[in-house]
Amino acid sequence: MDTSSQPPHQVYLNGDQIYTCSGCHAHLARNEDIISKGFQGRHGRAYLFKNVQNITLGPKEDRILMTGLHSVADISCTICQSVVGWIYIYAFEESQKYKEGKYIVEKAKISKENLWIQKE
Ligand SMILES: [Zn+2]
Repeated sequence: MDTSSQPPHQVYLNGDQIYTCSGCHAHLARNEDIISKGFQGRHGRAYLFKNVQNITLGPKEDRILMTGLHSVADISCTICQSVVGWIYIYAFEESQKYKEGKYIVEKAKISKENLWIQKE
């Protein structure tokens, strides 16, 4: 399927606090979707999210991380194409299985935004 001529469709998130791509401000994830803030990315601190929107998956590859061998794929912002982190597709270590299907997003690649929704 060739979608290259189509402008990327952006999903907008609802939430008081969301994380956006620091390059183009596309909505990426909600504050509630954070599983852990204690992860290490390529550029320093990274967050583990259970759900991330507006991303494109790169090719799957096996990578040896601090916690062992994992099958991962880079994730990039659908709107501006910048790589923001990776997804864990498969964890070889039993103790790391909880990360499968979860997303690492580099803190340096995102900004936190408060959406001031008027509540009456
Ligand atoms: Zn972006």
